[in-house]
Amino acid sequence: MVHSLREWILSDVVHSLREWIPSDVVHSLREWIPSDVVHSLREWIPPGFRSQDGIHSRSEWTTSNGNPPEGIRSRSERTTSDRIRRKESTRGASGPRRTKSELGQDAQSATDIVDCSERMYGINMNTTTLTNPESDLFGQVEPTETLPQVMYADIVFDLPMDRAYTYAVPESLQPFAAVGKRVEAPFGKGDRSNVGYIVRLTHVPPVYAIKDVVRVLDEESLLTDQLLRLTRWMADYYLCGWGQVLHAVVPAGVRDQAGLKPTILLEAVPSAELPRHFPTLTPKQMILLKKLRQLKEPIEQKLLQEQLKIGSGPIASLLAKNVIRRYVQRTERHTITNETGPAPERITLNKNQQAVWEPIDQAIQKGGYHSFLLHGVTGSGKTEIYLRAIEEVIRQGREAIVLVPEISLTPQTIERFRGRCGSIAVMHSHLTDSERGAHWRRVAGGFVQVVVGARSAVFAPTRNLGIIIIDEEHENSFKQESTPRYHARDVAVMRARLENVPIVMGSATPALESWCNAERGTYTKLSLPHRVEDRPMPPVVLVDMRHEPKSYGSISPTLEQGMRDALKAGGQVMLLLNRRGFSTHVHCPGCGYVATCRDCDLSMTFHRQKNVMMCHYCGYESGPLTACPQCSSTAIRYQGLGTEKLEDELARKFSDKIIQRMDSDTMSRAGSHARVLDAFRNGLIHILLGTQMIAKGLDFPNVTLVGVINADVGLHLPDFRAAERTFQILAQVAGRAGRGPKGGRVLVQTHTPDHPCIAMAAHHDFLKFAHQELAHRKMHGYPPYHRLARLIVRSQDQTAAANFADLLAGTFREAMKHPGRTTTETELRLLGPAEAPVFRLNGYYRFHFQLQCPSAGLLHQVLREVLTVAKVPHGIEFQVDVDPFNMM
Ligand code: ADP
Ligand code: ZN
Ligand code: ZN
Repeated sequence: MVHSLREWILSDVVHSLREWIPSDVVHSLREWIPSDVVHSLREWIPPGFRSQDGIHSRSEWTTSNGNPPEGIRSRSERTTSDRIRRKESTRGASGPRRTKSELGQDAQSATDIVDCSERMYGINMNTTTLTNPESDLFGQVEPTETLPQVMYADIVFDLPMDRAYTYAVPESLQPFAAVGKRVEAPFGKGDRSNVGYIVRLTHVPPVYAIKDVVRVLDEESLLTDQLLRLTRWMADYYLCGWGQVLHAVVPAGVRDQAGLKPTILLEAVPSAELPRHFPTLTPKQMILLKKLRQLKEPIEQKLLQEQLKIGSGPIASLLAKNVIRRYVQRTERHTITNETGPAPERITLNKNQQAVWEPIDQAIQKGGYHSFLLHGVTGSGKTEIYLRAIEEVIRQGREAIVLVPEISLTPQTIERFRGRCGSIAVMHSHLTDSERGAHWRRVAGGFVQVVVGARSAVFAPTRNLGIIIIDEEHENSFKQESTPRYHARDVAVMRARLENVPIVMGSATPALESWCNAERGTYTKLSLPHRVEDRPMPPVVLVDMRHEPKSYGSISPTLEQGMRDALKAGGQVMLLLNRRGFSTHVHCPGCGYVATCRDCDLSMTFHRQKNVMMCHYCGYESGPLTACPQCSSTAIRYQGLGTEKLEDELARKFSDKIIQRMDSDTMSRAGSHARVLDAFRNGLIHILLGTQMIAKGLDFPNVTLVGVINADVGLHLPDFRAAERTFQILAQVAGRAGRGPKGGRVLVQTHTPDHPCIAMAAHHDFLKFAHQELAHRKMHGYPPYHRLARLIVRSQDQTAAANFADLLAGTFREAMKHPGRTTTETELRLLGPAEAPVFRLNGYYRFHFQLQCPSAGLLHQVLREVLTVAKVPHGIEFQVDVDPFNMM
């Protein structure tokens, strides 16, 4: 109780008072609050405030356990709204700050969401402080001369709640405590020891006794100031705990120092520091000491023992006699060699490239935040622009972060950067913890000039960032589908703002969110409308499957003929089919039974090689179906086409050709991806078939035909982005054709050749597609015009989940009735609740609903208002997904 009360007073009153009152006055608050006031305070603080039961479970889902107890909730709500009110009143006087509604109206990207970030930690994310970061942002200790320096630490834990807890830092630990380090502190039920991050240190005294930090775990802070600010913003924007974000951002290999091995070093004590009476030494000890004195630097104990062929006895004696000393140093286990690539060919930029390079170059020279959207068709020389920008930044002594989709992290891509960009670190998902740790430490130590990596590379702890580049910025894989559910592009834009550097986002098919930002002028639009050296875009021919003979298998006669022609002329062929496995639909025609996963509402895919049926979501496997479990019929049909079956068909139709399949089943071993692509480049493979793995970024000049087996696969999913995704994948895969002097073409098999999305992709007409699709989005209130948040409620108890979804949606509806919230300007809509398209997943029943609002600020305000007081019954969990991608 005392602890909680202190906390309440401390964070709510004292912290805000600090803004106006000198710290010594704040200090005397302790005396100033009379005990009778304290007593009456006690009476009206709800009893639930005290209990912190069960908040240990680490979960990305918010559960009854994961919620702060009631009292805490109402407190934090009070804090937020009070503080916002206070800030607003000071805002009026201080001039040019934008108001919340102004911010809300044009808030369309991470760059614009600023009003939801200033909360409990006094962190101001408005534009003024962004361009003008205050050094004291994280409450670095401010020494005062007159008072004893007692230290307090605000600590966040890896829990789905957005608050910090204050602990006292015992004197013995004070030299080690720092913002960004992890500590162990008693927390929750039975005061179990929990690990959390220090996010603020202060001398502002607590009014009441509080618990102590037990241990400081890190030698050095794991996070830079910039990363702390960025993660703070993420917690606010994605509505999760700051501690959860920190836990996700700092690689495990950094936390546990994986990859660092402790080395025991010995050295002789310098003569000036030797004991006055030099001890007597045995001959063995003499030899040892002499050796150590001869060496100019410390030596590893193990090495010395090996060299002198001695045990540890004499060393121990010398240590006891204070003539030598020993210490431990952590050294990297991995030596990361920095191979350099082949000597770079110097390319002269063409006219279009020159035109897009100039503004980027200017932004780099001028410094400061500037965001560019580089729309360039496949093969237009975007990468060349990125490379120039990186070279320029390196020339200035700064560092670059390059984000690419995981599957584009091919050796070919890496080579291109290696050859031109000095020392690079490649961060991909196949790294072990210790390798990841080693990279992180190299980056943090300033040994790396360019970090190339997938999503999480956006958190690379660079020391002097100069630019961020995102290739294929539209890629779904930049969105993380677990807490924190962030989008790396949006986080990157925020990071660029925080660090005050330019950012270049490139794509042949920009995300409509980005496109809209560019149209509005939030991003500067640059375009490369033609391929380099006047190479034409490949002609795309639609093969209308309604008119092709049915019995022919999945490769139509038209496509087959096209392949034969291409292969005969010495070209290579790529075939895209975005489904792995052999049969995607196993069913009984007698009674209609369909094989579905035990735990999910998803049909099982039959994998012939492994001879199992598998759920692609949860990985559940069962033996192949021989008889129907419903009617015992043995006439089971294995239908639906996967890459495995396609490979089978190809082997029959092209028996004299070398065929290779590329999907996550065949590419699970590290290095297999690179081997296959190498073989393909060297002409050792004639036909490469695969999932979207082959659609992205690859540059094979000898590919003269690209075939798409079924363009309609994703077109009819219940997802407002279905058309956009289909367009993107068709445009990307078409971009693999005709990259060399031989030219090339694309054959697309479809049942809906008249669908506008497929027709426009065939004409490489992104501008028209964007125009039409945006009109459609606007009409239906979808992103980028409206902001979206998706709430998913799940439980193993179907009725309980349904009831809670109704209740939660009802609470939102109430909150939306608030005056001023339903005018057309700020129209907030709630769709649902309804069963999620995949209703049962992993054994949970799932209901979802969506909130749509043109104003990001308002959307966040309502979300926070409701979620901070939401009481989740036992056995139910919910999740918030801000700017969701996965609608299933
Ligand atoms: P994108 O990233 O837009 O797909 P790339 O930068 O990979 O395009 O360029 C495609 C190919 O064209 C690469 O092989 C690249 O080396 C080459 N290239 C780029 N710019 C030029 C140029 N100005 N002149 C000649 N070739 C170029
Ligand atoms: Zn049956
Ligand atoms: Zn499953």
